[in-house]
Amino acid sequence: MSAPLTMRPVARESIMRIAPYVPGRSTAGANRKEYKLSSNENPLGPSPAARQAFIDAASSLEKYPDGGATALRDAVASTYGLKPDRIICGNGSDEILSMIAHAYLEEGDEAIFTEHAFLMYRIVTLAAGGTPVVVDEPDMQVDVDRILEAVTERTKVVFLANPNNPTGSYTPASEVKRLREGLPGNVLLVIDAAYAEYVRKNDYESGIELVATREDTIMTRTFSKIHALAGLRLGWAYAPANVIDALHRVRGPFNVNAPAIAAGVAALADRAHMERAVEHNNYWLPEVTRRVRELGFGVPDSVGNFVLIDFSTVPGGDAGEADDFLGARGCVLRRVAGYGLPQMLRMTIGDEEANEAVIAALAEYREGLAGA
Ligand SMILES: *Cc1c(COP(=O)(O)O)cnc(C)c1O
Repeated sequence: MSAPLTMRPVARESIMRIAPYVPGRSTAGANRKEYKLSSNENPLGPSPAARQAFIDAASSLEKYPDGGATALRDAVASTYGLKPDRIICGNGSDEILSMIAHAYLEEGDEAIFTEHAFLMYRIVTLAAGGTPVVVDEPDMQVDVDRILEAVTERTKVVFLANPNNPTGSYTPASEVKRLREGLPGNVLLVIDAAYAEYVRKNDYESGIELVATREDTIMTRTFSKIHALAGLRLGWAYAPANVIDALHRVRGPFNVNAPAIAAGVAALADRAHMERAVEHNNYWLPEVTRRVRELGFGVPDSVGNFVLIDFSTVPGGDAGEADDFLGARGCVLRRVAGYGLPQMLRMTIGDEEANEAVIAALAEYREGLAGA
């Protein structure tokens, strides 16, 4: 007997509630120089050693990768003074966030994150059948008390981006500790420290210290930002043994590919290249912030490799119109309406030419408004 033709497979209801992630645009228009500053990519590019390791890995693509990513875990461990068996690697840290949701959320369990937090937390929570619980962020700052107030018996996971993307704000170590101490022991605290290497604040800590002393906290990191390997998809996490054990059970056996492992090892070894990326940001982050503010636009303090530009601070300013205006001049920024910030655009710190191009285009846009 054949099934009625109108029948077709239907995905789980919670999956259909996911608004698909929209990546930063990559094309501004034809026939002009384009400055892609929409995905927080590193303008210096990867270490030449990492590039070479990737190329060398092409000679043995017929082989499966080492499923344990041993060389990479060893390299991370020695770089940060950690134990290799407390490290797990992923196909981007996004994959690790997804593994966490699958391992710790039963249908209906709650995962807490804040209003302007990284969008992947909602996606991985819904994908796992969990319920997202969103906490207000007054002044675009994470408020630990509000997170603690949102905890219920169903809370299983708290996602904290530190620093957060797209706001660029960070939560000081003492506040992260206070959050952890206020959470029940059965709630897994996920500290997403994708931009940790860029932060220049004495009261910041990436999460390593907290994870080291507890059984209920995990820190995720990425090679996409400071190491400029976004195209390879490579991330890692540091967690207690019980959490690592659970994540290995949901991990695909060969989730990290061989060229990525090789490039990641080489990138970690090239400290000088990493420091150049940090130095570049140390110079341009305050420079871009200051000059865009001088044009009259609001720019919240950021500790990452990106800034938000607020168009509501200028009479007649509009983020959507500004995005079109900048795009027509080859400057591709990121709309962040999906993050609850409809009058802002996010700009990645680019190379000198790109930064100057955006500042010039913003000045032109500003003048157009003044003359209107
Ligand atoms: C870019 C980013 C990541 C990294 O994602 P990958 O999957 O490792 O490329 C994670 N968290 C935040 C907040 C980010 O902005």
